[in-house]
Amino acid sequence: MQKPKIYDEVPTPCYIVGEALLRHNLEILRHVRDNTGCKILLAQKAFSMYYFYPLIGKYLDGVTASGLFEAKLGYEELCGKKLEDISGAEKSCENHVFSPAYLESDFDELTKICDHMVFNSFNQWSRYKDRALAAGCECGIRINPEFSTQDVAIYDPCSPGSRLGVTIESFEKGFAETGLDGISGLHFHCLCEQNVDALEKTLAAVEEKFGKYLPRMKWLNFGGGHHITRVDYDVERLIGLINDIQSRYALQVYLEPGEAVALDAGFLVTRVLEIVKNGDVAIAILDASAACHMPDVLEMPYRPPLCNSGEAGEKKHTYRLGGSTCLAGDIIGDYSFDNPLKQGDRLVFGDMAIYSMVKNNTFNGMKLPDIIALRESGEWELVRHFGYEDFKQRL
Ligand SMILES: *Cc1c(COP(=O)(O)O)cnc(C)c1O
Repeated sequence: MQKPKIYDEVPTPCYIVGEALLRHNLEILRHVRDNTGCKILLAQKAFSMYYFYPLIGKYLDGVTASGLFEAKLGYEELCGKKLEDISGAEKSCENHVFSPAYLESDFDELTKICDHMVFNSFNQWSRYKDRALAAGCECGIRINPEFSTQDVAIYDPCSPGSRLGVTIESFEKGFAETGLDGISGLHFHCLCEQNVDALEKTLAAVEEKFGKYLPRMKWLNFGGGHHITRVDYDVERLIGLINDIQSRYALQVYLEPGEAVALDAGFLVTRVLEIVKNGDVAIAILDASAACHMPDVLEMPYRPPLCNSGEAGEKKHTYRLGGSTCLAGDIIGDYSFDNPLKQGDRLVFGDMAIYSMVKNNTFNGMKLPDIIALRESGEWELVRHFGYEDFKQRL
């Protein structure tokens, strides 16, 4: 991984998101869309840097939200505006929403700004159907095929006892009691950072359990978790799978990737504040924090890529990299370097566009990283600067 050239000039800590890297991902997604006629939405949960929504809007069909705030952002910054396709032609935009349970006080506003609403149970559907349909929304039910393709329970909506999606047992009961009048689509979201083989197996489980309801549906939403823009993703097999199901059931497929839109499009630039030693362990304290600025490093957990570094012991000088909070576990990991680290050195972490920016926090009174856009021209622009008020106003 190469350091972006601007890394010595920008304020630290900061996230940098690259327009060219984003566009590269969007072109892959567009290829899937253009070869299938499926629709692709940005799942804002993973990436809500609306500075880039105009670019994303040129390639994709709209956005999806987990509730009112994301839906409002998608409406204000994308779907409520006049949009242009990559060809320059005027285009429409879809604003979808799914929530495990809608807030009564949010619902009417949601129906005004969303065109598709997905319900997590037949109870939710019964409670809200009249208002959603009267507002002209297309409605769907989220199903749970109860088929796990991964081991990490917190990222597996199909794990036993999951609250996400209607199981076939509940679906049949709901169907008998409420029917499906007014329901135009089904939605499933079962994957996390997976390749098309996992989708293929999931889709087989969906068809086996819910296949008899598919002929009456106008659309089927495959959710997110498809790592479509990862180099080893089998894009052509995905295209085949979508075309097959669309033609067999005469329905419209939706994909709503989050990660895949901004995968490897962002960096976190940080500076070394101090070096300390504890026995044989050399520790670099940074102006960025795992706990505050890259929470998935601790939550998922994972080791983020770092430019010009190696595994512990691989290069000559190994350091443990830690944040400047008081949390003992605020450790990013052990990395090695060709030269000793010193105060003021800049480190550039990769994989920092998705989830990091939307999940960061000001624990310990830490400053939030600034947000910088790196334009295709090579110029960079400070999109957002954060300070003390951003900490204070939340409390
Ligand atoms: C999280 C989520 C997505 C996006 O998932 P990615 O892993 O970021 O692609 C899409 N749809 C739903 C319902 C989600 O919860």
